[in-house]
Amino acid sequence: MAKTRNHSKKREAILEAIRLTETHPSARWVYEQVKPKLPDISLGTVYRNIKVCREEGLLASVGVVNNEERFDGVVEPHPHAICTKCGSIIDVKYTPPTSQPSLSGFAVDNRRTVFYGVCAKCSGQEKGWLKKFKRFGRLAKRFGNS
Ligand SMILES: [Zn+2]
Ligand SMILES: [Zn+2]
Repeated sequence: MAKTRNHSKKREAILEAIRLTETHPSARWVYEQVKPKLPDISLGTVYRNIKVCREEGLLASVGVVNNEERFDGVVEPHPHAICTKCGSIIDVKYTPPTSQPSLSGFAVDNRRTVFYGVCAKCSGQEKGWLKKFKRFGRLAKRFGNS
């Protein structure tokens, strides 16, 4: 009985951590969030609980970004924008066209819309000091070599 209660406590903490953030976290991030509250939790437990929650339709997967699977507490399908630089995942307010491509004999039951690009934070940095810094770095290297 106590064990069962402990189990559901872990699951609730994991679900809550994912639902309370808009960052679409990885299992590792969730683990780091819940670890201070539940010191006996392991990364494996987090993975297992996420898997069960996904099977029960309580969580959705956004897919693998920068080698880590990322999860969403919002299970209704919605479009995402993924930054190819920092791996941030942002919910997008966009209604994809409803028309279906002609796929003879193929029954579509799911679709996802993903935009790839560079987020405002990353592109801002590129335009600003980082770009200057990079250019300076290249110059310095050139001077150093000659
Ligand atoms: Zn970014
Ligand atoms: Zn989302």
